[in-house]
Amino acid sequence: MTLDPLTRRAIESAGLGDILADVEAGRRLDAAAGVRLFTHPEVPLLGAMAALVGQGRHGRRVYFNRNLHINATNVCEASCVFCSFARLKTGDPAAWTLSTRQAVERLRKAGPELLSEVHTVNGLNPDLPFAYYTDLLRALKAERPELHIKGFTAVEVHYFAEKYGMSVGEVLIALREAGLGSLPGGGAEIFAPRARKKLCDDKVDAAGWLFVHAEAHRLGMRSNATMLFGSLETVEERVDHLLQLRALQDHSLAGPSADPAHGGGHFQTFIPLRFHNENNRLARLAGPTGLETLRVMAVSRLLLDNFPHVKAYWPMMGVAEAQLSLAFGASDLDGTVREEHIYHMAGAATPQELSRADLVRLIENAGGVPVERDTLYDVLRRCDPPAPAALPEGLRIGWVAYENARPLVHGIPGAALRGGHPVEVARWLAAGEVDVALLPVGALLSADLPADLRVVPDVCIGADGPVDSVLLLAEGPPETWDTVRLDGRSRTSAVLARLLLTAGPLAARLPPGARIVEVPAGEGLAGVGGRTAGLVIGDDARAARGRYPVVVDLAAAWKAWTGLPFVFAVWAGRADLPPAAVDALRAAGLAGLRALADGSLLAGADADTVTYLTARLRYPLDDRATMGLLRFAALARAAGLVARDTLSLYAPEAPPVGARPAEALLAAAPARVPPAPATLDALWAEARLPVLLTAAAARRRAVAPAGVATYGLDLGAADAGDTLVVDAADPAAALAVLATPGPALRVLVRVGAAGAPPPGAWLGPVLSAAPGRVRSIAVGAAEGGGPLGATGVDWLRLLALVRLGAADEVHVEADWGRFGRGFGQLALLCGADDFGPVPAGPDGEMVDGEVPMGVAEAERCIRLAGFTPAPRGPDFAPRGAARTAAERLDRPLRRLDAVRPPGLR
Ligand code: SF4
Repeated sequence: MTLDPLTRRAIESAGLGDILADVEAGRRLDAAAGVRLFTHPEVPLLGAMAALVGQGRHGRRVYFNRNLHINATNVCEASCVFCSFARLKTGDPAAWTLSTRQAVERLRKAGPELLSEVHTVNGLNPDLPFAYYTDLLRALKAERPELHIKGFTAVEVHYFAEKYGMSVGEVLIALREAGLGSLPGGGAEIFAPRARKKLCDDKVDAAGWLFVHAEAHRLGMRSNATMLFGSLETVEERVDHLLQLRALQDHSLAGPSADPAHGGGHFQTFIPLRFHNENNRLARLAGPTGLETLRVMAVSRLLLDNFPHVKAYWPMMGVAEAQLSLAFGASDLDGTVREEHIYHMAGAATPQELSRADLVRLIENAGGVPVERDTLYDVLRRCDPPAPAALPEGLRIGWVAYENARPLVHGIPGAALRGGHPVEVARWLAAGEVDVALLPVGALLSADLPADLRVVPDVCIGADGPVDSVLLLAEGPPETWDTVRLDGRSRTSAVLARLLLTAGPLAARLPPGARIVEVPAGEGLAGVGGRTAGLVIGDDARAARGRYPVVVDLAAAWKAWTGLPFVFAVWAGRADLPPAAVDALRAAGLAGLRALADGSLLAGADADTVTYLTARLRYPLDDRATMGLLRFAALARAAGLVARDTLSLYAPEAPPVGARPAEALLAAAPARVPPAPATLDALWAEARLPVLLTAAAARRRAVAPAGVATYGLDLGAADAGDTLVVDAADPAAALAVLATPGPALRVLVRVGAAGAPPPGAWLGPVLSAAPGRVRSIAVGAAEGGGPLGATGVDWLRLLALVRLGAADEVHVEADWGRFGRGFGQLALLCGADDFGPVPAGPDGEMVDGEVPMGVAEAERCIRLAGFTPAPRGPDFAPRGAARTAAERLDRPLRRLDAVRPPGLR
């Protein structure tokens, strides 16, 4: 782990050098350090240390998954005061209990969308038998056997044990036998008895919650953990909570699993859950600000040194803050989260779901490498761009020398390739005669090959409908077959045929007693006729398909059965295959697909081959293909046709961490960075967010009054009148105004829904305007772009550039309006000296879906960010002292008058 010099100096200057030394040495932080971190004003520096820890564990990788939430019942006999989700009795308004059929229907409605997980948590419903839950699990598993079910908080498990007269272990085993895969982390709230008594007196206590997870771990199950923060707890109670989790994780990691077949149980991820104040009995409390959320994220990462991940759960914290959390130690963005109810019933204003593309874009925009995972953090797909890598010298590659493989070996020197039939290639890989092979998936999942083989991401040979080259041929329909001959040349096709004939749509059509027999390679067609059908594959199948009246295309039958593509073959090799080899194979495959798309790979091919390669075969190993592959593995394993139902992709390499060239420009901070276009563009493209923020914070300290942050009071038309908008997409007219002499202006630089273009061409001239022409600069973002238009990370990066390039006398406004008060607070810490205009009316203006922004709330936000608020006029002249009394900052307990109308001291 390394830290850039700028940030190191800032951390040491802030009095945190001893904690940084412990972090860098891998020494455990104690409770006293935890309290210091929770009360230190320099939240961005806590984030930098937390990001250091996160990077050390995961490089730039950020994980997410595709999940569906099913809350089967919200009837709950407990009465947690913060809960907006529960209804006390069946029949109460807005109470629900789904039938098993309704729950399955929810899953079915997800349709062909890819999911790898169902997440289910519920109320403590006194009206249901235990069989309701096991039936629910079995029904969900029957519908989608490949999905992992993460369900039932420790609170629910403890309730089941008490209500149904079982031990906790018996409950867990029964749920697991019905299909449960792992436990979520909910229900932990705050462990400390004082706060727990106020929040949730009538559900399991801390010891009970921890015991359920200890039991789950002992049984080999994995689980998550949470902490509800921002309601009534103290800083010390937060630290106590985190250290109790850390102690249990120590115990679980060290202890033997009672059930080795299920692997070692432990906590996988910690999820800080922010208190929301709508529709519950704590509505009088202002929720925590975004800055506090980022602080909890960072401190959790620093204290929980034995937890693999800290998760930014976006439905709870908002999309923008979740993205920003990736710079504060978070390594997981949760998932697509269809149908989240709990936080939305509590007032969360976040969208009901994000698409996979949304998640990938958010992560990439924050400088991360998106990695799609399953519930147990096995990598399903990595999304980093292909590196043009040369094939390592001497690499031995096996491949199935069929026409369908041509795109994937495009560009690989022939001398490195050894071609053969599928069975041969599998045998070579098993015997170590090749290092990596384009391998049929039936072989990959068999017991003949090592279980730790890895799959090269992103490319495969598959089909999403008829493929023409894997066929059952016969003279009559399946109802007339008494023998089906399976050609032994391809185990994958044979397994697929057996699956379809015994468990799939053909099973009901075969007459009773029909025989399925394996025949030697190349003999599938021999004897076909009368009541005998035969499986034929590859180029032979394409040649033979016109000669028989009945043709069953197995890929089409699979698609009709499951709705998913079928994957025939993937690149697979030893786990220790050099990363350069993985990159080279992946890059070669992707180049082959481009050559296929532009036609250059098809030169000289006949029309039939062109159709086969472009319309029948499907090469991306994307989400749908991956889920098709996993579904095939799950079904085939359940039918006893393969030995395993899991597979692992090669994980992305962690890129080196260290100073980047553009960051050398920041080494001179707090001096002004030249606002030349080339400088701005280089910083925009290359400088990491934490380094930019640290440099901007240092510059702010150098040019703005220490400890004071202004805000615009009673501005109205006076402020709007001299605002010049510089539109990043079309800046010419505004820049022309700045180029002419005139009075000082407030400049609002604005980026559109498509995101910010490189800033040199449009921000450079603003920062270089004649002296006295620019009074202040605010960074805005166009409305209407949705949550993913210009992202919060882009906004902060631009704001830092403004501070670094602006003249000393130019004010920088935080503008809380676009991304919420947390971003406004963070902006004050990272470059802005002003919180921006604040509504002066009695009701203020809603922001974040929390409490209205007015003078009182603005001053509270400024104080919580560690500054003294000071009102000012449109010319930035002071308008007296702060209008509200200072509140205590040494405890997270919220003042009950935080939402009072603004205006009075
Ligand atoms: S938080 Fe859970 S246990 Fe408490 S009332 Fe809500 S649903 Fe019931």
